[in-house]
Amino acid sequence: MSALALEHVSHAFGGLLAVDDLSLTLARGEVVCLLGPSGCGKTTALRVAAGLEPLQQGRVLIDDEVVAGEGREKPPEDRSVGLVFQDYALFPHLTIAENVAFGLRRLSGAERRQRVADALDLVGMAGSAGVYPHTLSGGQQQRVALARALAPRPRVMLLDEPFSNLDARLRQQVRDDTLHVLKQSGTTTLMVTHDPEEAMFMADRIALMRAGRMVQLGTPANLYYQPVDAFAASFFGEINYLEGIVEAGEVATPFGAVAAGKLPEGSPVQVLIRPEALHLTPVDDGCPVPPHSVAVMAARLMGRTSLVHLRSLELPDGAPHFHARVPGRFLPPEKQCLAVALDRAQAFVFPRNSGKADG
Ligand code: ATP
Repeated sequence: MSALALEHVSHAFGGLLAVDDLSLTLARGEVVCLLGPSGCGKTTALRVAAGLEPLQQGRVLIDDEVVAGEGREKPPEDRSVGLVFQDYALFPHLTIAENVAFGLRRLSGAERRQRVADALDLVGMAGSAGVYPHTLSGGQQQRVALARALAPRPRVMLLDEPFSNLDARLRQQVRDDTLHVLKQSGTTTLMVTHDPEEAMFMADRIALMRAGRMVQLGTPANLYYQPVDAFAASFFGEINYLEGIVEAGEVATPFGAVAAGKLPEGSPVQVLIRPEALHLTPVDDGCPVPPHSVAVMAARLMGRTSLVHLRSLELPDGAPHFHARVPGRFLPPEKQCLAVALDRAQAFVFPRNSGKADG
């Protein structure tokens, strides 16, 4: 049984097809992120699931019940969905407890008080039940918004960029808390984000979208290590880009040949190499250097990793340079020669005419 299913959902605004034939099924307790660049239709898909946008085409099912489609359209309040948006939208004139109790009017007083206490406890805000929202930080308010959405025990939680109004440090803390609250309560969740790292942090599975369509659906590891196209490969961070031609089933690169899979012989291809796929070793003897060597242009410590800018010694001067990411502190001096070993699991080959990496 699926907790939430979107089946062939399409949605247009005038002539603009914002969501194009989206099908997505969430298992109970699963956290799925809709990820993609601005304007790709994530929010529209979420709003259709919530019932905030009337369904135009397809079906929406919650716990296998059709809530939209086949001539039916349940209003949002009857779908048993919890909603959290980027603006926490707490009622300023109500206390935290009253805010959380707002969606529980159908319960008896004692039951309602217990639910409010449980929900605030779950998000670590039990001590703030009697205060007003303006006395809380943004992160605390967002936790209350989460408690308010969870308190009615919705069948599905729908979160739209819930952390984007928080500063970087607080965002990490609140999303960590949120993940554990959602998992602890076993709540099925569909969350919208444009941030690939956030999606990887939160999601059991990611649905990557582009221009209204779902490009790829899978675990974060699937998307990172088996991207279906150049867009998917490059969406998860900076990537080195090369062009080549398939010869004898391979494409030559300055770091060694990469298998071209089933791409036709002689066809023009693009090769995308993650910066962490370039493994570097200093060359002791100076020149002549071994094949696949590079010279250091600059090296910078970026915190957990070092970023090394490299020029291939096999390419003419003026050719584009490459980036390697090395764990920890690795700061070779400028002009030093380094040998490169390529981790081929992080080098991807696609037809050159299949769309550019950047989107
Ligand atoms: P963002 O991350 O910027 O919110 P998104 O991926 O969530 O983007 P949507 O908000 O779903 O994208 O928008 C998809 C497309 O539909 C965009 O081109 C947007 O301008 C358009 N759109 C969204 N809502 C409306 C609306 N109410 N009326 C007209 N066009 C809209």
